Amino acid sequence: MHVFRDVLSLREFLDSEKESGNRIGFVPTMGALHAGHLALVNAMNETCETGVVSIFVNPKQFNEATDLESYPRPIEEDIRKLVEAECDVLFMPDADEVYPKGFESVLSIDLAGLDETMEGEHRPGHFQGVAQVMFRLLHIVQPDSLFMGQKDFQQTVIVRHMISLYGLPVEFELCPTIREEDGLALSSRNVRLTPENREKATIIYQQLDQARQDLGRKPLALIKDSAMDAISKGGGEPEYFDIVDGDTLETVEFSAHHEAIVACTAAWFGDVRLIDNVILKQE
Ligand code: AMP
Repeated sequence: MHVFRDVLSLREFLDSEKESGNRIGFVPTMGALHAGHLALVNAMNETCETGVVSIFVNPKQFNEATDLESYPRPIEEDIRKLVEAECDVLFMPDADEVYPKGFESVLSIDLAGLDETMEGEHRPGHFQGVAQVMFRLLHIVQPDSLFMGQKDFQQTVIVRHMISLYGLPVEFELCPTIREEDGLALSSRNVRLTPENREKATIIYQQLDQARQDLGRKPLALIKDSAMDAISKGGGEPEYFDIVDGDTLETVEFSAHHEAIVACTAAWFGDVRLIDNVILKQE
């Protein structure tokens, strides 16, 4: 695996790969890799001759300094996992490589209100940070295909919006959420759960799955309220449990009026905030 820390050497390498006719794939991550990330690498390897993974803990998308500081960074282990997964290129830039001087004053991306609901409501500025780092990384890597996980559903809608807003020539590939056997979505933050909270956190997927079963049978307000209630009773502190349109992220009032519907939730277990979602309807 080739490892690059600076943009110029990465570009030199990728330009020559492109010249040889290789398709470039890209999986952006913040490291602390697990089977969810590696599933993206596998999907990338299936269609791209040259696969790039980036590890960059993007300070712009963290709301709290403590969350940024405590974000796990097991880099040696990550490198071992990527070599095993047959990743071709690892890009591990420092912040000043990703954000050259003056970058902030030139870029504020119009997210068309997609950043105002759910995660956006609870994490102000988070998606502007995500959109900016993705804008910059896509310009650096210039991939033919970008692979992102459904686990961060709102993020995928926002990144797709940004790609179409700027007409970026990249294909977006949505990859399904990888879960533990008991349904908990894999996340780099799971390692910070106490054993008790790890047990309790299974209520998240149970309630998302319940919503899938209840769609069309119970009123939407009742589905959401009982999920919030069940997560609280199960030992979590839910921030939201929303049922939204899969394209616009608008709250669904009548399920028959929407082609794609997704249930999304965020809840705290101790000092760990977890998010998850399930597609309830897709036509
Ligand atoms: P992160 O390192 O958390 O920024 O995630 C990097 C990429 O991995 C994002 O596209 C995530 O949506 C994706 N990802 C994270 N967890 C999972 C999971 N459990 N299953 C599938 N993809 C995931």
